[in-house]
Amino acid sequence: MTKITVAKGDGIGPEIMDATLKIILAAGAEIEIEEITVGESVYLAGNAAGISSESWDIIRRNKIFLKAPITTPQGGGYKSLNVTTRKFLGLYSNVRPCTSLHPYVSTKHPDMDIVIIRENEEDLYAGIEHQQTDEVVQCLKLISRPGCEKIVRYAFEYARQQGRKKVTCFTKDNIMKQTDGLFHRVFDEIAKEYPEIENEHWIIDIGAAKMADTPEIFDVLVMPNLYGDVLSDVAAQIAGSVGLAGSANIGEECAMFEAIHGSAPRRAGQNMANPSGLLQGAVMMLNHIGQTKVAERVQNAWLKTIEDGTHTYDIFKDKVSKVKVGTKEFADAVISNLGKKPDLLKEVSYANNAALVLPTYQRKPKQDKELVGVDLFVHWDGSNPDELAEIIKRVDGNEVDLKMITNRGIKVWPNGFKETFCTDHWRCRFQSKSGSIANKAFIAGLLDNCLREDIDVIKTENLYTFNGKQGFSLGQGQ
Ligand code: NAD
Repeated sequence: MTKITVAKGDGIGPEIMDATLKIILAAGAEIEIEEITVGESVYLAGNAAGISSESWDIIRRNKIFLKAPITTPQGGGYKSLNVTTRKFLGLYSNVRPCTSLHPYVSTKHPDMDIVIIRENEEDLYAGIEHQQTDEVVQCLKLISRPGCEKIVRYAFEYARQQGRKKVTCFTKDNIMKQTDGLFHRVFDEIAKEYPEIENEHWIIDIGAAKMADTPEIFDVLVMPNLYGDVLSDVAAQIAGSVGLAGSANIGEECAMFEAIHGSAPRRAGQNMANPSGLLQGAVMMLNHIGQTKVAERVQNAWLKTIEDGTHTYDIFKDKVSKVKVGTKEFADAVISNLGKKPDLLKEVSYANNAALVLPTYQRKPKQDKELVGVDLFVHWDGSNPDELAEIIKRVDGNEVDLKMITNRGIKVWPNGFKETFCTDHWRCRFQSKSGSIANKAFIAGLLDNCLREDIDVIKTENLYTFNGKQGFSLGQGQ
């Protein structure tokens, strides 16, 4: 018996959760349910996180969390419960299988059978944003080596366990050489440990286009958070419907399982919603807790039900579907198919499908880190970069020289183009005259000089080399 935390959520949440639990219990799931309330009512009671500390205690104690979609109230100030849960609980891996159910659910991609493994904690979802000048706001994109190693290893281990043949990595490292560059590099390093699995890397733009056009050429895909967020919805939709896909959020200790769709408030309380997405999440949960036989029974009965043409309104098509059913009737149909297998759709076998146990991340030896300069970011309302350079040059000291000024990343001094559009946000790069700089005192000196000259510095960013390798990007056009 495994104790799990259940949140019935908002909108269609309670109906699809009841249907899902009824099916898995009928299939023999050995679970004890502890229910918590999260979402809209908690938000509206004044808790900006949408969850109470008592509920956190329960989630952390039980470690397995089955969650229905919740409604985030309109208006500012409410924190996304999903993002918070993923990060608090270290749920680094988001797994979304997207498989076509052709010919029973219409899709342009009958042979599609891919799994998107999305990094779930980092990237632009760190949510560290600032307004820096009148005209410019910033969001920090954070990518870490442990984050990359964990997700990439998860993807290869998943492929190995599931007998999948290929892992594809999507990044934009032709532009983001540090952040996406690290993700790609780690992918190449870890791929070598899995010689039996094919590996490849695509630049995300053409990769995404290919995935939308010919998804059957892909198998397992691994990518940073934002790309994975967008593309997993695309993949679920082109496989048939976002209403059919589930997702697993896996961490080293805890895991959360859910549907990928939202709470569809307009459909709530009408016994209309399709419980399949949450059921798919529950099947992943059963596998994760080692109840693989039950997971298999549920999945095969679900496939048979889809094959029978017993469809909820969202996937109902006149010529293919046979009976239009509501949420409860769909659940009953799946239950009556328990023990049966699909005829044409591929039946599943989860013989070897329990939770993956990955080695914990081992911190690498310290690198030789040398300070070689600093970028000063300046709020300045002028328009001629040569003028700014004259002002800024007044502040450089003995150790560093002003090397370059950029505006939104593009070099505008020296030798800028007059055509380049400039905002009020300038990056002034100071680099060492003689390699490594012994300590950071020069930065305080620069800032002090800026204060004296009335230069509005809005932030600084240190320039380092690591083991002699430059740890920062060049200016565009530098
Ligand atoms: P949504 O996914 O809830 O609904 C979009 C449309 O898809 C619905 O109008 C409905 O026609 C259809 N649909 C979705 N799920 C369905 C199902 N199971 N069966 C049948 N039809 C279904 O997206 P939305 O309208 O953008 O968001 C509604 C609320 O859900 C918002 O408050 C949003 O913040 C929240 N949301 C929550 C989660 C989550 O908790 N994981 C995820 C996404 C959105």
